[in-house]
Amino acid sequence: MKKTYLGVDLGGTYVKCGLVDARGRILRRDRFPVDSRRGPEATIADIVAHLEGIIEGLPLDEKPSGLALGAAGLIEVHRGILIKAPNLPGWNNVPLRDLFSARLDMPVRLENDANLHALGEWHSGAAKDWRHFILITLGTGVGGGLVLNSRLWNGTHMSVAEIGHMTVDPHGPVCACGNNGCLETYASATAMCRMARERYGHSGKTPDVFDSNRHDASDLFKLADQGDETAKQVFHQAGWALGLALANVFNLLGLEGAVIGGGASAAFEFMHPALIAEFSKRVMTVDPRSVHIRKTALDNDAPLAASAVLFK
Ligand SMILES: [Zn+2]
Repeated sequence: MKKTYLGVDLGGTYVKCGLVDARGRILRRDRFPVDSRRGPEATIADIVAHLEGIIEGLPLDEKPSGLALGAAGLIEVHRGILIKAPNLPGWNNVPLRDLFSARLDMPVRLENDANLHALGEWHSGAAKDWRHFILITLGTGVGGGLVLNSRLWNGTHMSVAEIGHMTVDPHGPVCACGNNGCLETYASATAMCRMARERYGHSGKTPDVFDSNRHDASDLFKLADQGDETAKQVFHQAGWALGLALANVFNLLGLEGAVIGGGASAAFEFMHPALIAEFSKRVMTVDPRSVHIRKTALDNDAPLAASAVLFK
């Protein structure tokens, strides 16, 4: 008998789902677009249809024993409710856990997507040998997942580790949350594009080099890879902000390491020198040379691999 689990990563425009084994290996996978404006009921019906496609033909003794569902946003983990999500406008107070559970007839766990990413990296990725670490995702926003004593830290009510809204500069740019100078305003893919626009404007280059209407953070990464100094400066600034925020976190919690994931972590090597420099300058409670700050090992597969941990 082979134990299997289902994982779903619910984004604003795409859903990734998969069937994983007890070792977190992905046996089957699917990815499809969703139009979240159709609302939770219709979207859930779509996802369930795809999940049924994934498990179709499986021998009875390999049927999945649970579904781990990840979504970006504020989540009340204990009750399985999505309170609100920046990528899913209008999805407020949706009891996602129970809605999926009723349709699939299996246990469902709802978690913040970055929390699942952290669990996946811990189970079979970059954080495999750690007991205390933080995972940071650099995407449209900046998310976080915290593992302490080999357990996901969920606080008292909501999903926590919102490191994206840690202040790194009280006089910095305005964040989507309404405050100034959150980490997210320097280290998200969105922020990197904004900083590129500002810097290319100052350097007098034409918008053809970097046009934020046509280009995104991956184009910026290609420019840096080709040696473009302005693109490198953007990643330097993002690395500085990450190093500052991580020093605060490590001074508070004395972690063993950090994993950087999300789409913009492709530029990890360009952020790393400034990140380490700022981190080493500010960290006091641990020897910076003993700390590992690693790039994600599983990328997009990490939230799916997490289902093997949640239902163990
Ligand atoms: Zn913020």
